[in-house]
Amino acid sequence: MEKVITINSEETEKLGFLTAKKVLDLAYNEKALVLALDGELGAGKTTFLKGFAKGLGLNKKIQSPTFIIMNRFSLSSKKYTDFYHFDCYRIENGKEMDCLDLNDVLDKKTNIVCIEWASKIKNLLPKKTINIDFKVGNGNERVIKIKNLCRIKKITS
Ligand code: ADP
Ligand code: MG
Repeated sequence: MEKVITINSEETEKLGFLTAKKVLDLAYNEKALVLALDGELGAGKTTFLKGFAKGLGLNKKIQSPTFIIMNRFSLSSKKYTDFYHFDCYRIENGKEMDCLDLNDVLDKKTNIVCIEWASKIKNLLPKKTINIDFKVGNGNERVIKIKNLCRIKKITS
């Protein structure tokens, strides 16, 4: 488990950027690569994903999809073709995800899937999900814990 304390949104974005670089280096490729982000409103999940998207080479603006639940972006890497950004803030039960074809999205190994408020649908997510928890600390501090990233095999190891 990696624990990082950031003191401003730039640092959280940078952590997202570096995490994307690590993720691109992973060999885990049987199904979609899933990052589950949890933490209260304003804890920094979307900020992290802004940096994460940059790290994937996207220059599109990442906004909170709170009102639309899902965004998809095309990627130009060989291994990954699509980046999905879900926000389950408004989801009350997993059944509401049916119409979004979440299972198809999770099955495709060329997808990278990041989900804000993922604990709301955790029973739908794969075991190998990378969990990222955000906590608001003092002032602008955010305590960010990344779990399972090391459990997934790296190409280089
Ligand atoms: P969430 O998606 O978890 O609801 P956002 O990333 O949308 O949170 O919002 C985080 C808010 O907190 C932003 O307004 C950002 O400027 C502010 N902020 C202050 N300090 C930090 C920090 N260390 N990391 C991330 N965001 C921070
Ligand atoms: Mg958000």
